[in-house]
Amino acid sequence: MIVNMKTGASRAEIDAVVEKVESYGWDVQMNIGTEKTVIAILGSNTGQVPTDNFAVMSGVETVTRIMKPYKLASREVQAKDTHVSLNGIEIGGKRIIVMAGPCAVESEEQLMETAEGVKAAGATILRGGAFKPRSSPFSFQGLEKRGLELLKQVKERYKIPVITEIVDTRDVDLVAGTADILQIGSRNMQNFSLLTAVGKSKRPVVLKRGFSCTVTEWLTAADYILAEGNRNVILCERGIRTFEDSVRFSMDISAIPVIKNACHLPVIADPSHAAGHYSLVPAIAKAAIAAGADGLLIEVHPDPEKALVDGLQSLTPANFAKLLQELKPIAEAVGRTI
Ligand code: PEP
Ligand code: MN
Repeated sequence: MIVNMKTGASRAEIDAVVEKVESYGWDVQMNIGTEKTVIAILGSNTGQVPTDNFAVMSGVETVTRIMKPYKLASREVQAKDTHVSLNGIEIGGKRIIVMAGPCAVESEEQLMETAEGVKAAGATILRGGAFKPRSSPFSFQGLEKRGLELLKQVKERYKIPVITEIVDTRDVDLVAGTADILQIGSRNMQNFSLLTAVGKSKRPVVLKRGFSCTVTEWLTAADYILAEGNRNVILCERGIRTFEDSVRFSMDISAIPVIKNACHLPVIADPSHAAGHYSLVPAIAKAAIAAGADGLLIEVHPDPEKALVDGLQSLTPANFAKLLQELKPIAEAVGRTI
């Protein structure tokens, strides 16, 4: 922690800061200039004490932390990439993993038809929401338990793992009874009790980025899952809210290399929720792969015109198959396979 004293701070104000630092058992390194004094605080557990405890003191201008707030997700704790394995599929390795399917599970017919289409096109994981976190309580909330039953059936019939969203801590056992991967939605990225609960479950987790959250907040949220001993965390960039309104969310492509530098976890991209329109999905998917994403999460619906949720951003199985072909040379160009 660095305490930057105000210009002309008195000797007594500086001494009071030093005294407080020492009361925590920490050391100080003083940088005394002609007008300004900067006090570096050295200690292994400074993260336990709020910066505000110093910021409120008389004569203090600013207090900043040097250490990143996230730890377990950082490359400092683990330099080599984490690979998440399930059913012989490795996420974070050379092969780009594609997860695809409808936003919401709507019916047996819809789910089976989608599974057949996306599997034939090359997807290795089927997505489908049984519990939907909707902005309005009056919108379709998902088929819930019936949705999970359908996901169980489709898994068995098509021998494909499934990812589905979990919205409530009370449902961990229920959802983990079917899901191969638990999805934490954007709106729940900072639902810390939910993060802890999925951490305890040890099931792989896709942690979507909160659409108003920074990369640092996102990685710190990942620490909640990792802290429970669940190392199977996959991050998913899905677009953030900016002033731009020509798309549903602004895809933060730069977050992908930023995370790759700072963090060892796999990162996938969801171009569907960023785009908000099916015509924009392919270009964003290609950009994400070029930027280093380890996988994609794409919404596919056999009949988008009749979809109960997110029809406008859903690809048809035919368009999805076309996209996967188009992604091949891009994956190859960045040393990956798909
Ligand atoms: C979804 O994947 O259907 C979804 C609700 O996404 P997000 O949480 O990113 O909005
Ligand atoms: Mn959706």
